[in-house]
Amino acid sequence: MVARIFRVRWFKRFLALVLGLLLGLGTAQLVSLAQDTPSVWEVGTEPAFPPFEMKDESTGDLVGFDIELMTAMAEAAGREIKFVALPFDGLIPALQSKTISAAISGMTITAERAQTIDFTRPYFKAGLAIAVKQSDDSIKTLDDLKGKRIAVAIGTTGAKKAAEVEGATISTFDNSPLALQELLNGRVDAVINDLPVTLYAIREANLQGLKIVGELVTEEYYGIAIPKNSDDLAAMNDALAAILQNGTYAEIYGRWFSAEPPELPLVAPALAEAGTAQGLAWGRLFQNLMRGAWITILLTAASFFFGLIGGAMVAFAMISPIKPLRWLCRIYVDFFRGTPMLVQLFMIYFGLPALFQSMGFDLSFNRIFAAILALSLNVAAYLAEILRGGIQSIDRGQWEAGESLAMNPVETMRYVIFPQAFRRILPPLGNEFITLIKDTSLAAVIGFEELFRQGQLTVATTYRAFEVYLAVAIVYLIMTSLASFAFKRLEAYMDPINRPKKAPKTPVPSAIGVSES
Ligand code: GLN
Repeated sequence: MVARIFRVRWFKRFLALVLGLLLGLGTAQLVSLAQDTPSVWEVGTEPAFPPFEMKDESTGDLVGFDIELMTAMAEAAGREIKFVALPFDGLIPALQSKTISAAISGMTITAERAQTIDFTRPYFKAGLAIAVKQSDDSIKTLDDLKGKRIAVAIGTTGAKKAAEVEGATISTFDNSPLALQELLNGRVDAVINDLPVTLYAIREANLQGLKIVGELVTEEYYGIAIPKNSDDLAAMNDALAAILQNGTYAEIYGRWFSAEPPELPLVAPALAEAGTAQGLAWGRLFQNLMRGAWITILLTAASFFFGLIGGAMVAFAMISPIKPLRWLCRIYVDFFRGTPMLVQLFMIYFGLPALFQSMGFDLSFNRIFAAILALSLNVAAYLAEILRGGIQSIDRGQWEAGESLAMNPVETMRYVIFPQAFRRILPPLGNEFITLIKDTSLAAVIGFEELFRQGQLTVATTYRAFEVYLAVAIVYLIMTSLASFAFKRLEAYMDPINRPKKAPKTPVPSAIGVSES
């Protein structure tokens, strides 16, 4: 007894110590973060925009024109710098919430953006260009894109330009390299993207088979983006002016573009235009989310259907007496359970066609096929384990019972084993279904406009991240709750003892029954 009290007390003390330590460390970290902020520029960037920002393949460090420029600016201003990798469409929301002090990411100064954030003076002259396949002679200007399929990067000026093309089908990707890969794989007719980036991709990154037409569809200037009314604006403008003057800018420019830098205006001409940042129209958002939810439901239903068929086949193969088959299925299940779904999706959608094309076959899947294939293969791996586990959890004696009733193995499975296993399988099956509803959001990376992507697209034009993502989350919640409810009902229905019974037609007179009170 004494020993037990001692142990309990000792345990409580230990717990208090650990909690105290964690709390102390957390507070220290927060305090140090708060102290860091004034001297450090935390700069957001989307590191898939070569040659402006990218990861060095050998060292893993961030490199690029923007990175060197910003580092030189910080040096001139006597500030420290820390880069934060963020998606391009997340940069403006991050600036709005002031989680970063600036963003440098080849971001074009537009009047629309200038309504929600500030820009430094222009630091680079660029413009949009149209990229097509080398063999394509039908597209020469922006007008020729009418009714064609165009790939763009989300939230960019290229995406905005593409949206203005009449009758075009637009696929939106997370970054420019993915949009260009889509063109290379032959699934779209053109990409509208920043000229220097497309040029770099064709020349340096070995994207052969593409060419640029309609050079400089627009003239754009890049600026460093800063939260509204930030004290850093003056410091950054001064630093930029200093490195423009002392030759550092020209030196960095020359190294990356092998040319003399062009003259830069003090103010981007685009700022003279009237800015019309799109407000958040709730009706429109609702419509878009419903459209996205419908695609999410279709994706879930199709993938679960095929996943169930595949999973059942794999489960039976895994309990079959054929050893090589069991091994094969084990490898399949381990691969699809042990690797991220995102990687599988990229492998199937971008990787396989590229591999086949490099071998000389003209293979390319459409988006729906690739998404359903990747999701079903993944779900089937999980379902196979659930089904196998359920079937094997039924006592051996049940098989013997079937045998003693002169049933063959198929009949025993059908009438004895499976009905019992099914009840055990149902709860994890429900879990898997709910997971799948949420996992379909990964299909956004291959340009699928399902629920999550619809939200992202709205944020990219309205910059209202919180409200929009909250709305997206609520729609997911409604869908998962409905699914959870349906599975609960099914479970209750499958329970032979507690199955909800229909009320008897003629109520039993209470005088005959046992009184309830
Ligand atoms: N310059 C383009 C824009 O600002 C693209 C930038 C990017 O993708 N990093 O929209």
